[in-house]
Amino acid sequence: MEIGRLHVQQTVRTKEGPIDRTQSPPEPSPIKRCTRCILPETFPEIEFDGDGVCQYCADEHPDQREKDKRQVRARFEVLLDAVRPRSGYHCLLNWRGEESSTYALWVLKEFYHLQVLAFTLDHGFLSPQALKNMRIVSECLGIDHVLEKPRFDLLKRIFARCTRRGAHADPAHDRPQICAACTALTKGVGFRLALQERIPLICFGGASLSPSSALIELDRDAIVEFVHDERSRLETIAHNGLENYFPDPAALDDPAIKLTLAHPLAFIDTEEEQMRQLVKTFGWEPMDGLNGRSEPCLLSTLAIQAYRSQSGYHPYVAELAQLVREGVMERARALALVEAPSSPSVLAAVQAKLDLPLFEAPGY
Ligand SMILES: [Zn+2]
Repeated sequence: MEIGRLHVQQTVRTKEGPIDRTQSPPEPSPIKRCTRCILPETFPEIEFDGDGVCQYCADEHPDQREKDKRQVRARFEVLLDAVRPRSGYHCLLNWRGEESSTYALWVLKEFYHLQVLAFTLDHGFLSPQALKNMRIVSECLGIDHVLEKPRFDLLKRIFARCTRRGAHADPAHDRPQICAACTALTKGVGFRLALQERIPLICFGGASLSPSSALIELDRDAIVEFVHDERSRLETIAHNGLENYFPDPAALDDPAIKLTLAHPLAFIDTEEEQMRQLVKTFGWEPMDGLNGRSEPCLLSTLAIQAYRSQSGYHPYVAELAQLVREGVMERARALALVEAPSSPSVLAAVQAKLDLPLFEAPGY
């Protein structure tokens, strides 16, 4: 999308008389970015070497990462061998409906032969195409799918508050507050479902985590702490009404409970175009190209806009830069994603649904 250039009419008086100058304002100087990934000069604590390469790319050791991936994948496969003989579901997958978690669904069901329960948090802003895709793909792959739709008045209060600075104490400042709140609620629902259905493994679709962070085994104390942290993040905004979206305290009493959290795409070789081509064979269709990508969440437009206006960089630039380093995504494609403008009509619709003032740039 092109943004029209603003022409300024200026009249400058000189000794020789008035000169009518019609000129464009100077183009903003292009932002300096790492020549290998896409991290910008506005990214916190970024440093570039003489070749314009950032310290994260300079510190990247592909051989070590490949070794880590192999080790984590081996641990994951040992875990799957242990859960596969059990009855009931083997695995719960947080399915957002985009390519990556849809591909993860296929990997778990068809490649690893697991009984998968997919769950999706419908926060009121899923695109119609995402919902249609999930219905078609779940039928095609033979997947049980739970769509959890919390009451919207509660969500509205949480998300609207998240457009203001310091809404909740999120230790990770590298993501929008709206997304952190949504993640907390999603994890609460995921933990509740897993404990209720006695599912030992919860999987997620993201591929950008380091392999060592992509497989985490939690004992009972760690589960209690994890649930407490996610819930308290939301309780600063919504003081009540959250109990239905987190595990029943009685479910946390059993000292023998264990859960494993996994991001399989972080340690299984994959490539964006390959994922997209595969999921299309299940009837998945690209969504509207929101934020430059096939994004199922309309709310992300507001989250990205609010974050970018405050911090000066795209909230997912670090994640996309990592995908470039990993070879999962082309650099040009990642750059196009972080530079894609927000859709004004989607932004206006989201703000209207949250009763936020229109035409007012949200900021934290
Ligand atoms: Zn870099």
